Amino acid sequence: MTTNPPDDAVQALRQRLHGELLHPGDEGYEASRTVFNAMVEKYPSLVARCTGAADVRAAVTFARENDLRLAVKGGGHNFAGTGVCDDGLLVDCAAMDWVRVDPDSRRAWVGPGATWADVDHETTAFGLATTGGLVSDTGVAGLTLGGGMGYLARKHGLTCDNLVRAQVVTADGEVVHASESENPDLFWALRGGGGNVGVVTEFEFDLHPVEPELLAGPVFHPYEDAREALRFYREFTAEAPDELACYALFARVPPEEPFPEAVRGEPALAFAVCYAGPLAEAETAVEPLREFGDPILDAVQPMPYAALQRSFDDGSPEGHRWYSKSHYLAGLPDGAIDTVLEHTDPFPGPLTQVGLEPMGGAISRVDETATAFPHREAAYSLGIWPGWADPDRDAELTAWAREFHEAMTPYATGGVYANYLDRDEPERVRAAYGGNYERLAAVKADWDPENLFRVNQNVQPSA
Ligand SMILES: Cc1cc2nc3c(=O)[nH]c(=O)nc-3n(C[C@H](O)[C@H](O)[C@H](O)COP(=O)(O)OP(=O)(O)OC[C@H]3O[C@@H](n4cnc5c(N)ncnc54)[C@H](O)[C@@H]3O)c2cc1C
Repeated sequence: MTTNPPDDAVQALRQRLHGELLHPGDEGYEASRTVFNAMVEKYPSLVARCTGAADVRAAVTFARENDLRLAVKGGGHNFAGTGVCDDGLLVDCAAMDWVRVDPDSRRAWVGPGATWADVDHETTAFGLATTGGLVSDTGVAGLTLGGGMGYLARKHGLTCDNLVRAQVVTADGEVVHASESENPDLFWALRGGGGNVGVVTEFEFDLHPVEPELLAGPVFHPYEDAREALRFYREFTAEAPDELACYALFARVPPEEPFPEAVRGEPALAFAVCYAGPLAEAETAVEPLREFGDPILDAVQPMPYAALQRSFDDGSPEGHRWYSKSHYLAGLPDGAIDTVLEHTDPFPGPLTQVGLEPMGGAISRVDETATAFPHREAAYSLGIWPGWADPDRDAELTAWAREFHEAMTPYATGGVYANYLDRDEPERVRAAYGGNYERLAAVKADWDPENLFRVNQNVQPSA
């Protein structure tokens, strides 16, 4: 693999691009190479800040012809930092952040540099939405290609279940479309197979009506009540209608109003709820959650969907150090709750989050072979996410997450969400694609036999 392509080839690429071609030291280079997780420090030799499919096509062709490592960056939020690489060429899609909505057909066309803030802003202007992630500056591209969990997933399916068509630049530099009727194998692989089969240059999503205001928000309980609260959560989520999504999140109480001064900065268990339906129905459905226990704060209230989608942003700031360990859980037996409590007391790190995300509903009604995303039967996804600033704490906090994760293994399905894998888990990549791995490898062999797209949770093309 060459890391320095000939100057004349670089000049020819520069002329083919509408966007900028940057070298280390150029203005904008740092912004392009920097990703959400400060644990990831990578330095590509070249950055192509692409403005459309033509630029992506030129960049992909250049990387292939010059035998360069190729990374593709959407929102840069991947924990493992697979949106950037050392040496090689980075395709930065940040400038491709358009969102266009057709309210009549209830469709949105979204560029691969858009964030969920961009999408929610445009779609909710028409009273529409699709499933997106809980932190608004997460990229649409990586989240969709890995699956996509969010408040609306139990009602409307994963983000990838709402993808109806994509424009894709393939490894041989062609621009193709993928949908149920065009290149269906490629379309299948895009929905859960990560960035393994091509660079998506436009996503087309199904949209759904969303109320002007949803009953949503967090209820914070003191850490001391977490055992009873999680037992309650288990029952509450088991009986929940599709409209109701309730996350359980251990985190520190924010150091600000309206939280009581005495508990600011202390660990707590927050239930973050959203009812994706009319407010009157929502009151009844959410009532048991609001009546349980003696919360520190009940901030559940009617709010616009786009505001809900921004409400966790402050707790997950960019530029800090993060590590991710994850399991899918089949359920939440007492033993699992005990294990969670054993590993969250003491609660390490200033920004650490431990989250249970609800699955089920519409997610589980899609056959596990219908898309490349296989984890349709899980009850919850468990995320263990230490977050901190001081590099001297790297070893301590990653060790904490690993031990906690290991202790939860008896309660896990064996699967894992590809988007929650970190850099040090190559042996779990097969588990991320589960029973769909072999088919993904076969599609990969058709569309990317040389494994040009390998800076991701990588699927090896089948022989
Ligand atoms: C704070 C935070 C909150 C999160 N919340 C959620 C959540 O609520 N729900 C959820 O499901 N996930 C969530 N995630 C995980 C998220 O889905 C992944 O981190 C995802 O990879 C982010 O996508 P991105 O485009 O921002 O990342 P990037 O790092 O830019 O890219 C991720 C991967 O996708 C590939 N890729 C990017 N763009 C393209 C493209 N156009 N074509 C082909 N491949 C491409 C990259 O090569 C890379 O391998 C969260 C992550 C963080 C850090």
